[in-house]
Amino acid sequence: MRVFAAGLITETNTFAPWPTGLAGFSEEGPFHGDASTRGKDSMTGMLAALWHDLSRDAGFAFVESLFASAQPSGPAVQGVYEAFRDEILADLETKGPFDVVLLFLHGAMVSQACDDCEGDILARIREIVGPKAAIGAELDPHCHLTPLMIEKATAIVLMKEYPHTDYVERGRELFDICVGAARGTIKPVSRVFDCRMVGFYPTTTEPMRGLVDRMSAAEKRPKMLSVSFAHGFPWGDTPETGSKVLAISDGDAPLAELTAAEIGRAIYAERKALLPGFPRIDAALKIGAETNGCAVLADTADNAGGGAPSDNVALLKAMIEAKVERAVFGCVWDPVSVKVCAEAGVGATLPLRIGGKSGPASGEPLDVIATVRAFREAHDQMGLGPARSALGDSAWIEVAGIDVVLNSARSQVFAPDAFTGLGIELADKRIIALKSSWHFQAQFSKIADRIVAVATPGAIQMDFAGIDYKKKRDMDFFPRVADPLELD
Ligand SMILES: [Zn+2]
Repeated sequence: MRVFAAGLITETNTFAPWPTGLAGFSEEGPFHGDASTRGKDSMTGMLAALWHDLSRDAGFAFVESLFASAQPSGPAVQGVYEAFRDEILADLETKGPFDVVLLFLHGAMVSQACDDCEGDILARIREIVGPKAAIGAELDPHCHLTPLMIEKATAIVLMKEYPHTDYVERGRELFDICVGAARGTIKPVSRVFDCRMVGFYPTTTEPMRGLVDRMSAAEKRPKMLSVSFAHGFPWGDTPETGSKVLAISDGDAPLAELTAAEIGRAIYAERKALLPGFPRIDAALKIGAETNGCAVLADTADNAGGGAPSDNVALLKAMIEAKVERAVFGCVWDPVSVKVCAEAGVGATLPLRIGGKSGPASGEPLDVIATVRAFREAHDQMGLGPARSALGDSAWIEVAGIDVVLNSARSQVFAPDAFTGLGIELADKRIIALKSSWHFQAQFSKIADRIVAVATPGAIQMDFAGIDYKKKRDMDFFPRVADPLELD
């Protein structure tokens, strides 16, 4: 058995102000065949290492190609996308033949000339390896699950959890399904149920928690191989944007179809309860003030992890105006101010204009008098699971008694060391305000007495009915339409 592995990942916010180019893919890698060793601290490298180890343990030959990932932003520069794609295809052609092709893709990557990069990659790979080879893709649940992807892949497995803490587990399942398919011991058959919804579905709270558990239970039934919920990525405008359920059975198409519909209808039945309904800034600050202990406030709409600039300071401004004490805010993506702070030096007090720089979604900048408390080159934080996540050169400044982190490598906040790594003490804080929509929960739930996802201004608005889609095919989706499947 010969196994080939590659990865190409970015989540495209088609409403974001800038393209995703080579610099975006260079913050972590790209790894040209050595992700499993050189990139082993990154999410992509962990998948490469997993598939390498599983292949080695089974006595298979293993060839590792490109693994590249970029922080979400606007559509990928066409030439950059094609160069990466063609590098994978060239390795596949020159180092083959292969029985199993394993891919770590996102599922919501859009380039300047292609709305479905993953479908494009899978179709070209199928062309090269032929109908007999097993092609498997692990995708992020924030994907646009397209008919082309389903047609060209042997099996697609999505992470089930949001925060995405289960990517290694899902990679292992994909390996087993694809090896079984290549050996001919199983015959994966995929069916998709379109929920006709656009939404945001954290899996740590009900009703989504129970629905994920129900998916896992359905996988244990005889002849079922995998059940996934494609949440969809609301801020990617493509013909196929939306929430769908994918079920894979062993050779039983009606069973796959029934299972996908059963889970899809169960999610659909909870659609109203699944709407975010986050409090606005003033209400959130009030909840924070009333919290006994530490409240974590999430600046959900300016999350770099969804392609937002991460430099909107509306929440910080409100915190200053409300005179909150023992508070921290971060990370504001502001490389210019970081440079100014580094130049001024630790201990300096100076006027700074922070945030509000990237575009309309960034809002107004904030003019402050700041004291530089610390500076760190190539700062980083714990990422999802055991992976690390780069924050770039970063500064800790104090503004009106609030500790603020400015950073240079655009990223959402995943873990407390985004703050403590600069020397900020979190133990005595009453408010930790951070830029992330949901991934932060994996680590911050350990120190928070209360977590409040806040309806802030920014590029990732949760008003799904109001998103200005131009390409999405089905516009009769919930919540634009109350009951698009006519099941009530
Ligand atoms: Zn995601």
